[in-house]
Amino acid sequence: MDKRLMLPVKPEGMEIVYYYSCPSCGRKVPLLAPLKPAMAACDQCSTQFPVVPADARSVEFVKTMLNQGRAGIDPDYV
Ligand SMILES: [Zn+2]
Repeated sequence: MDKRLMLPVKPEGMEIVYYYSCPSCGRKVPLLAPLKPAMAACDQCSTQFPVVPADARSVEFVKTMLNQGRAGIDPDYV
């Protein structure tokens, strides 16, 4: 398909990324909002550490508020 004829695609879903500071080196480690207690692994120093989980209702609220990303897109492109 000719890329010049393709329209920009709209999002069909979204995720929220939480950042956790590595206790060893301080790097901000991104995790898709963990809904249960989980282990994070630092990609800089390989330290593994437990993280406080995200609140599922808060994550669901933001996703719902933005209609799974469909309401959170650049209006100039719509
Ligand atoms: Zn680290």
